[in-house]
Formats: sequence, structure tokens, C-alpha cells
Amino acid sequence: MKNDYYAILGVDRSASNTELKTAYRAMALKYHPDRNPGDREAEEKFKEAAEAYEVLSDPRKREIYDQYGHEGLRGNGFQGFSGFEDIFSSFGDIFEGIFGFETGRGRSRTVPRQGADLRYDLRISFMDAAFGTSPEIEIERFEGCTTCGETGAAPGTQPSTCPTCRGTGQVTKSSGFFSISSTCPQCHGAGRIIENPCTACRGTGKKKLRKSIQLKIPPGVETGSRLRLRGEGEEGLFGGPRGDLYVFLHVEPHEFFERDGQDIVCRVTIPMTQAVLGGTIEVPTLEGTEQVKIPRHTPHGKIFKLKGKGIPHLRGFGRGDQLVQAMVELPTNLNKKEEKLLREFATLRGEL
Ligand SMILES: [Zn+2]
Ligand SMILES: [Zn+2]
Repeated sequence: MKNDYYAILGVDRSASNTELKTAYRAMALKYHPDRNPGDREAEEKFKEAAEAYEVLSDPRKREIYDQYGHEGLRGNGFQGFSGFEDIFSSFGDIFEGIFGFETGRGRSRTVPRQGADLRYDLRISFMDAAFGTSPEIEIERFEGCTTCGETGAAPGTQPSTCPTCRGTGQVTKSSGFFSISSTCPQCHGAGRIIENPCTACRGTGKKKLRKSIQLKIPPGVETGSRLRLRGEGEEGLFGGPRGDLYVFLHVEPHEFFERDGQDIVCRVTIPMTQAVLGGTIEVPTLEGTEQVKIPRHTPHGKIFKLKGKGIPHLRGFGRGDQLVQAMVELPTNLNKKEEKLLREFATLRGEL
């Protein structure tokens, strides 16, 4: 059961065209899909109001409706609206000036839209991830064709106005009392026809071009880190802003270090005698080598921490630590003298 058109717009049956328009404009503003994204109820109200206004603002339809109600309209082939595009293209003047519409006519053609985002995957070395780097990358994206000046027409020629829709991109079919607008089948809404397409861009006005971009990768990034370069994506449509470029980083493994967040982990082997008697070993760090003291009686697997020798924190200050794990190595291939000494040692300890 359809609601009464006058009740939908909240006007009385004698409302003038100006009153109808004011009432509809207020409804459209309130229930506009841009303002109520994903709201089914608002969507229904928006469509309902458009239909009510479509009928009541047309003197012939209004007369039929006043006399015969919804039935009368259906008998005359009135279908209502199929979707938003339909509504926007019908009431251009109503939407003008709200939500930044240039004009409601052909909304899908003219509303500025942001260009697509681009993705680029970049491998960087362990060291570059630790300390930052400024590599240059090359991306491919669509740019305006310089051969034709983005018109899509071969140099020396011009696109011509579509004869079917006279440049509006829309055609209007009449059926009974009513007219239905739809996208022009000849130019597909563009409003112009290109007779001699530019060969460089095949008439599209856009060409895929390579572009070098200098990146600035801060210290401390890791695999999965992502850089966002605002405005380096594809061109926007109808004057919309460019999309963004996202650079996904993949850090290559290091032969010696492993990473655990901002800490780095490495293993060094120490001879059994040093583990027992203590000593000093040389440990590689991200910046050269470092002498590390091994205390007496160091068990296998003990971890020494070198404070502040890890990876710089991506955000904020300071660095992680380097964790050095001591791997105690047992002596092998003993010669006669060594074996004799070890046996003496074991005998003294009562272990043989
Ligand atoms: Zn071109
Ligand atoms: Zn056309």
C-alpha cells in the first residue's frame, strides 16, 4: 500500500509548485544517501519523496493522481524511479547547490571522484630497515595523454558533440504522459563523439606512463610496514583528487641477526673452557663489533643483553636491545695430550 503523496511531502492538497519544491528539497536534504550512508529507511524515504515530487510537480500527473490515486498513475504507465541515478538525473535543479553538485543532471558523470589507490611492493635489506633509506622506485600509472591534450581526438581534430543527445549524455523517451531519462546509447553518457581517435592513447585521453618516485623510509620499519604517499595514485575523475600510493615493505633476512620487534637476536659459540673460566668474546653488532665479557660458569644458552644496540624505534626515541645467546661448544678431535689432561681433570673431580 503506497502512502499519500501529499502526506509524504507534508503539504496540503492545495500546495503550490513553490511549496512542493521547498518541501521536497527539505526532504531530499534530510534523507540524502550521502548523508545517511547504508541507512535503508532513509533510502526508502528519499525514493518515496522523489516519487511524490515527480508526480505532484507535473500538472498532468497531479491531476490524474488527484482523481484516480495511485491506481490511475499505474494505468498510465508511471513506474516511479528505479534508483538514485534516475532521481538525480530527473531533479538536477533541486540538487543544485547542495552537497557540492555542479548539477544533478548526470550525477554519475560529473561528480568528482578520487582516483584509484596504487600498491607497490618493495624489498629492502635488513640494514636499510634498521637505519632507514631513500630508494627511488618506478611506478606505472595513467597520466593525461600529451599527444592529444587529453581530448582523445587525433592531433588537429576535435571531438564533436554527440548528435543523439546533443551533448547532454542523456536521452529522454516519452511514454504516454511520462518521460524517462537514460544514458545516451551512442556516446555512453560522454556527450561527445571522437571520429579520429588519438593513436597514442587509443582515444581514451590517458596513457600509462612510468614515473620515478623518491621514497623516504624511516629507520625501524619491518616487514608489513606500509608507506602512504598521498596523491601519488591514479588521477581523479571529473576534477577529483588523485588516489594514494601504498608501498608495502618486505625486509630481507640477515645472515647473522634475527629480529624480534625492535630487538635483534644473535647466537655466538663460546668454547667450553671459556664458559667455565670466563673471558672476553667479540660479538658483531649492527655497527661493527663489540667486546663482551663472559663471566665464569656461563651455562649453555645464557643470554647477554647489549642495551640500546637494537633497531631504532619507528615512532619515538631510543632503540631496542641486542640479545646475544651463548652457545657452549664441546671440544672435539682431542689430541693425545688434551685427552690426557681431560682425564686427569675428570679423575680429580671424581667423575671417572
Ligand atoms: Zn591521446
Ligand atoms: Zn550522446
